[in-house]
Amino acid sequence: MTYTALYRKFRPLTFEEMVGQEVITKTLKNQIMAGRVGHAYLFSGGRGTGKTSSAKILARAVNCLNPREGEPCNECEICRGILDGSLTDVVEMDAASNNSVEDIRSIREEVNFLPTLAKYRVYIIDEVHMLSTGAFNALLKTLEEPPSHVKFILATTEPQKLPATILSRCQRFDFKRIPNNDIIKRLAIICEQSKIEITNEAMKLIAVLSEGAMRDAISILERCIQDGENQITEEKIRELVGIPKLTYIHSLTKAILGYQIEEAIQVVNQVIDEGKEINHFLWETIKYIKDLLLLKTGVDAVLYNEEEKKQMQSIITEVSKERLLKLIYALSELENDMKWSSQKNILFQVGIIKVCKQEKNEGLEEIEKRINKIENILKQGTSTKNIEQPKQEIPITKPEKSQKPVKKVDETPVQKMQDGNLVPYWQTIINQLKENGKVMLYTNLINSKARKLNDMVIGIEFTDGLTSFRKDSTRKTRKQTRINKIN
Ligand SMILES: [Zn+2]
Repeated sequence: MTYTALYRKFRPLTFEEMVGQEVITKTLKNQIMAGRVGHAYLFSGGRGTGKTSSAKILARAVNCLNPREGEPCNECEICRGILDGSLTDVVEMDAASNNSVEDIRSIREEVNFLPTLAKYRVYIIDEVHMLSTGAFNALLKTLEEPPSHVKFILATTEPQKLPATILSRCQRFDFKRIPNNDIIKRLAIICEQSKIEITNEAMKLIAVLSEGAMRDAISILERCIQDGENQITEEKIRELVGIPKLTYIHSLTKAILGYQIEEAIQVVNQVIDEGKEINHFLWETIKYIKDLLLLKTGVDAVLYNEEEKKQMQSIITEVSKERLLKLIYALSELENDMKWSSQKNILFQVGIIKVCKQEKNEGLEEIEKRINKIENILKQGTSTKNIEQPKQEIPITKPEKSQKPVKKVDETPVQKMQDGNLVPYWQTIINQLKENGKVMLYTNLINSKARKLNDMVIGIEFTDGLTSFRKDSTRKTRKQTRINKIN
């Protein structure tokens, strides 16, 4: 079977066969039955959601000699002519490759002629946002005074790129991502008719992977049967799509969360030995931890089977949401670092060790902090050392070369250091950042405190540590000026 065979074979020929866009197809059918079809439509939505299929059905339905309840018969002379492409009254154009003024001008000249056989000339312009400015202007003129025998159906994945003048002249339909259940239902029909044996779990996985695009779902299905075997399991899909074995991802996550450096490295080495793309593996691990986090907040993990969900449950009962979040953050940073490295494997191994250690240290630090706090209460806060020691501090104002930011002065009494030097209006400054639309900076500073270190320098103290991302985002000179200005 060739690559697009299934896709072509199962392309919906009626609105009834369309999947997951009931509201749109019902409206269109009603318009056709009532004879109130508009002269220009805009079908917008993600790829594979049925825009072009709907456009083709609509083009036939308005021209069909024997329409049935708003549907084309697909059997009359006109329908067949459109289906096999012999009827020139329905024109399909891909704006990605025909986006010049000349392309649209030729349409403008054409529209003045009556259709040859059909009732309407229908122009389907796919990826219409790709038209050049000149072409848009030419199209607009046609849309402003369309001859009554012409209909336009524009389709786009990026409606925000269209000029308002075009948008205002079209009836717009937004195609939603197709729900997983609808994709599964359609896959079941396709598999049954094509004599493909497929498990429920496999269909579920395809639906999730296709992210609401029926076309993608069918193309995954196609790839699964290209080896000539008409049996599809979840494992086969994972292998084919290149999803690393979930057991590895699960083991690595468990090892990191359990501070088991040796176990973690063992998994990493296994993955490397199998020649798997390490970036991909890391990305899948991050996604897995994200799914753990979702599961912990009560969102069902649809991608996973019952067995896998049990494993996930066993992990999440023992960790906090905060810890999972922190881990996602740390691994994302590692992923970012790896992007630019030529020594990905080594960096990955070292990164995982670091994450394990960091995790462990932070755990210990937390305990240490608590002990200190209790100790402090016992001693009634008189002569103890500073409990909440600032982990790291970075100067906001650029100090003179010789003038290093004065860090913590040891001999300063604890009380004085905390109260006397804390910048009291820091929260107001942070809030102003948000009001001024500097959301990124705001979110980075939200849990921070500021201390005056000397007349020139104040230090920002992050209660939950200074990540390199934060370092970057607060160090940029422009942002420093911004903080200074508000200050
Ligand atoms: Zn027909």
